[in-house]
Amino acid sequence: DRIARERDREFDQWRKRIKNSERFKVQESAFDDATFAALYKLVQDGYVDALGGPVSTGKEANVYEALGGERSLKELADGAEQVAIKVYRTRATNFRDMREYLVGDPRFEELGDKKEIVLAWTRKELSNLERARKAGVRVPTPIAAQRNVLVMEFVATEGQRARRLDEVSIENPETAYGVVREYVRRLYAAGLVHGDLSEYNVLFYEGQLVIIDIGQAVTIHHPNAEEFLERDCENVASFFRRQGVDADGAELYEWVHEN
Ligand code: ATP
Ligand code: MN
Repeated sequence: DRIARERDREFDQWRKRIKNSERFKVQESAFDDATFAALYKLVQDGYVDALGGPVSTGKEANVYEALGGERSLKELADGAEQVAIKVYRTRATNFRDMREYLVGDPRFEELGDKKEIVLAWTRKELSNLERARKAGVRVPTPIAAQRNVLVMEFVATEGQRARRLDEVSIENPETAYGVVREYVRRLYAAGLVHGDLSEYNVLFYEGQLVIIDIGQAVTIHHPNAEEFLERDCENVASFFRRQGVDADGAELYEWVHEN
């Protein structure tokens, strides 16, 4: 009891510190109390040491850079110090759409209200990252999920986030297309369809391609899995066509099934 009270006090102080810090002023409204509590738990559990500035602010989630705690650093490459923290909004999010992506996934049955859906969504992204990694697809290393907060590798060079494919000029688009094709195939073979694959969700990092934003990925048993796969293939092919590659969405879709 005393311990609980102490923890509460510590938490309050910590929250004040974040709220007052210059970098977080802008984001203050993005965190509700439960999100603060989740962040605090991640600090206590040794996953996060300190929160940094925003990397991206979006409709469904904000991504922040942070200093990884001991337990995170263990998962990362030698010398890496930072993690990325993706905070899903529990308010003002399009959870009707989210529910559709969770249908038919045996890992996430019996979902209740909106909050529960967002929490399942966060766990789903962590679990999808793990599955993708095991399948040999380069994704940010998954580290932890707490409530609506996901901790993963910060794909960055000297503190600067890696650029997305839409932000770089690709030197060898043929090769890059080959890598993305192989990633789509491996994901499918591992039972997953990304569902939002495009140049906006692929990072270019020190010569590697890294697939991100995999929370909405569905299992191949999802009623719309084939439709999502078709769309992913078309998005990818049309981007690489614009880079001068002889790419075709329907051909990629078929190739994924045949191989
Ligand atoms: P939105 O609500 O804007 O759609 P989102 O769901 O697209 O957000 P993400 O794509 O996962 O969220 O992340 C948003 C941006 O943050 C990405 O485009 C990328 O630039 C950056 N980002 C996300 N995760 C990482 C990471 N692990 N390492 C480096 N940068 C990242
Ligand atoms: Mn994205």
